[in-house]
Amino acid sequence: MNSEVIIIGAGAAGLMTAVTAARRGRRVLVLEHNGRVGNKILISGGGRCNFTNYLATPDNYLSGNPDFCKSALARFKPQQFIDWVEQHGISYHEKKLGQLFCDESSRQITGLLLQDCAEAGVEILVNTKVTGVEAAPAGEGSARLIVQTDKGPMSCESVVVATGGLSFPKLGANDIGYRIAKSFGLNVTEVRPGLVPLTFSPRDVNAYGELSGISMDVVVSCAGRRFRENILFTHRGLSGPAILQISSYWKEGQPLTIDLSPDEKLEEWLVSKQPERTELMNVLSQRLPKRFVQAWCARDCPSKPINQFAIKKLREIAQTLHRWEIYPAGTEGYSKAEVTLGGVDTGELSSKTMEAKRVPGLFFVGEVVDVTGHLGGFNFQWAWASGAAAGGCA
Ligand SMILES: Cc1cc2nc3c(=O)[nH]c(=O)nc-3n(C[C@H](O)[C@H](O)[C@H](O)COP(=O)(O)OP(=O)(O)OC[C@H]3O[C@@H](n4cnc5c(N)ncnc54)[C@H](O)[C@@H]3O)c2cc1C
Repeated sequence: MNSEVIIIGAGAAGLMTAVTAARRGRRVLVLEHNGRVGNKILISGGGRCNFTNYLATPDNYLSGNPDFCKSALARFKPQQFIDWVEQHGISYHEKKLGQLFCDESSRQITGLLLQDCAEAGVEILVNTKVTGVEAAPAGEGSARLIVQTDKGPMSCESVVVATGGLSFPKLGANDIGYRIAKSFGLNVTEVRPGLVPLTFSPRDVNAYGELSGISMDVVVSCAGRRFRENILFTHRGLSGPAILQISSYWKEGQPLTIDLSPDEKLEEWLVSKQPERTELMNVLSQRLPKRFVQAWCARDCPSKPINQFAIKKLREIAQTLHRWEIYPAGTEGYSKAEVTLGGVDTGELSSKTMEAKRVPGLFFVGEVVDVTGHLGGFNFQWAWASGAAAGGCA
């Protein structure tokens, strides 16, 4: 094997790096341990791949260094990927909030990447597992690094680690990228599941565990961040886009504050109902899902005719519903998380090229790096942008 650049992982970031480097005339080999490429692309966006978000800005990313992603994102913009999608005749639509999805299938995105890889002369070896990377002994020609695989060692000038994070282990996710970084003495920040459903405490499971399937449009806040989207009750806790978004900011022990009626102030409305004899539960059900109101009243505010509540108490009830507090017990873990927060410390990498500052020829791109996007196409945009940055130099 006589490759100049070896890319570990044929996901979004790896394939993007491969095309970019091969178009510069580099001899590129991609190693993938699964039997097919782009598993996560294929299942993403419910099979339609939310391939970018045209509203992406650095503020849509979490990282130990929020400035790190700026350079790569500025040099590979969502429009560049959109142009590419259009050149391939792939039709797409905006679902909401700048999120672009294929009209037909995620397969069109892997198809686009594979076709352009083939045209640029990229070689892809599937069913090939990488077990480590080492520095090449001095005097091995231009080879700087050796990639250890289950098919034997392979040497090259540059290695791009595009092995993703820990989420969805059933698709082949594992910690090899972090292990490679650590084996060269590079720091890896603490990792945890992100964009993940949260679980109820035992007390909340008793109260709300039966509400599975109920969805509400809310504003959820935690740790200074807020998201306006839907929440979805599950048997074990809360999910839905608003929860997935806030889960990346939530840490154990913190409460989520949820405004259950973001468009209408409930206070004056509830007070205006005070002269009526209707049960509080039935009044609240005019604004909130009935099953939720039943569960909430059963635990937090026994229902009775609304005219038996003092005005002060009704104001309090309204405020509680605008600031409903939940203390999640935990997350559903990597098996349900869309991404991994944390990763290879950005302080170890050049933000222009993704190359390790202390290990010439070793690059890290995509989710393995400590840069994590919000829900909505931002993670693929980071994969494309960081891949383009590394591919321009590796
Ligand atoms: C269910 C789900 C839906 C998602 N939907 C979206 C979406 O619609 N939009 C969006 O922006 N983001 C979405 N994401 C997140 C997005 O998929 C990831 O952020 C993105 O795929 C990361 O790209 P990557 O190339 O860095 O890593 P990956 O896509 O994880 O690719 C890493 C590759 O490395 C390979 N690999 C790992 N270890 C080895 C080894 N030892 N040897 C060889 N190969 C190895 C893996 O098999 C894999 O192919 C979703 C994630 C999930 C789990």
